[in-house]
Amino acid sequence: MTLIRQQDFIDSIADALQFISYYHPADYIRALAEAYRTEASPAAKDAMAQILTNSRMCATGHRPICQDTGIVVAFVKVGMQVRWETELDVVEMVNAGVRKAYLDPGNVLRASIVSDPAGARLNTHDNTPAVVHVELVQGDKVEVRIAAKGGGSENKAVMRMLNPGDDIVEWVLKSVEGMGAGWCPPGMLGIGIGGTAEKAVLLAKEALMYPMDMHELKARGAADFIEALRIELYDKINALGIGAQGLGGLTTVLDVKVLDYPTHAASKPVAIIPNCAATRHIHFELDGTGRAEFVPPNLSDYPDVQWHPAQDARRVNLDNLTREQIREWQPGETVLLSGRLLTGRDAAHKRITEMLARGEKLPEGVDFTNRFIYYVGPVDPVKGEVVGPAGPTTATRMDRYTEAMLDKTGLMGMVGKAERGPQAIESIRKHAAVYLIAVGGAAYLVSRAIRSAKVVAFADLGMEAIYEFEVEDMPVTVAVDSRGRSVHDIGPMEWKKRIGMIPVRAM
Ligand code: SF4
Repeated sequence: MTLIRQQDFIDSIADALQFISYYHPADYIRALAEAYRTEASPAAKDAMAQILTNSRMCATGHRPICQDTGIVVAFVKVGMQVRWETELDVVEMVNAGVRKAYLDPGNVLRASIVSDPAGARLNTHDNTPAVVHVELVQGDKVEVRIAAKGGGSENKAVMRMLNPGDDIVEWVLKSVEGMGAGWCPPGMLGIGIGGTAEKAVLLAKEALMYPMDMHELKARGAADFIEALRIELYDKINALGIGAQGLGGLTTVLDVKVLDYPTHAASKPVAIIPNCAATRHIHFELDGTGRAEFVPPNLSDYPDVQWHPAQDARRVNLDNLTREQIREWQPGETVLLSGRLLTGRDAAHKRITEMLARGEKLPEGVDFTNRFIYYVGPVDPVKGEVVGPAGPTTATRMDRYTEAMLDKTGLMGMVGKAERGPQAIESIRKHAAVYLIAVGGAAYLVSRAIRSAKVVAFADLGMEAIYEFEVEDMPVTVAVDSRGRSVHDIGPMEWKKRIGMIPVRAM
């Protein structure tokens, strides 16, 4: 019989979450370093260099890899020979660990969880509750696999009850093409096959908790049907040409993990959950001897990649930029932004557009005339920082507000991540505006370009408040130019054609 003490369990959960907030798993770093080495698309290679540089900075600075520090998901397997010394249940203990980790003053993490999701959506302020799956198993240990899952990648999860005769590969390829870049590739896909609807989704999530080993698998060859399926999916998904951040390139996925389970003869449930550039998970066991220990990676395991802006990058001053100047910008071009930038994301956009619809004036300090807005919800600063990690959030969610923002506020441009939908692109073209992307998963690197930050409106929205940032040489890429041309259409189509494994349909 093993005795597990409450504080050991809580401290282990908290330590694990702090650890993964700034250390990528070693297998992810190895796989990304290899993908970086072989990438032939300059735009995708540049994005990977930013993610690798950011990763090393986070490892040395002990600050989050991404401003979205995730929703906590834990798979807890409790041995049947385990006894607990606690007055809490397992879920309460996990939540106590989450609270401790996310409120740690030395490396404060962003609280992203809202209660009442269908209604008021109020932030719980300590990132609880976690999503916890507890299973009773044979043995005398407690085994935990825990992740801090990014919202952008979780939002792209898909599940389908296929017919037994349907082709899984065909459905996965179609689904991945439909996901766009909001899941911040390069990352990995977890695929669950079989069971029932909810079992397939759980399998897909659990599959993401295992280390990447695609290179080893390809080297030794598939030993069974599932391994052969993983290789086929890995090769064909990468042949779609989506590339890092959807810019077009050779690597979209670093691995594809598949778990399966017996199912009903009439069913073939399949679920896909992507994991992003901020892949954060860890595995530990408790055997009654105390809290878990986590060994930091050796910095020599990180590739020697130091991102620097391209020599020929266009430098612009946001404070005196004109609409004539932005007309010259081309899709895929790198731009370094300096000057003042307003921020805002979902809740701020909703409030602004409601105020505009009622004919109300926007708050003082919120004048978008010929300005740019950055879709971001930063981490709170610590230890003299101006702002914590502050990477972009998915722009697609702001599409519904884009026409009103461009038409009624004088806004000239937007900075976010991932592609825009057809309506937003049409608005950008109509108003001769521009949409730029920063790299998702390079939040600490991006935040180094922010020289000052102050909240100018909607302070009650917390991380969703409107800030004014003063930036210097903030690296972005032109994603939709003033003529409505999108790099997320042009890039993947070009690379799919170059790779030549999958036929390209005319647009
Ligand atoms: S890398 Fe992208 S999807 Fe992942 S947590 Fe960060 S912003 Fe979200």
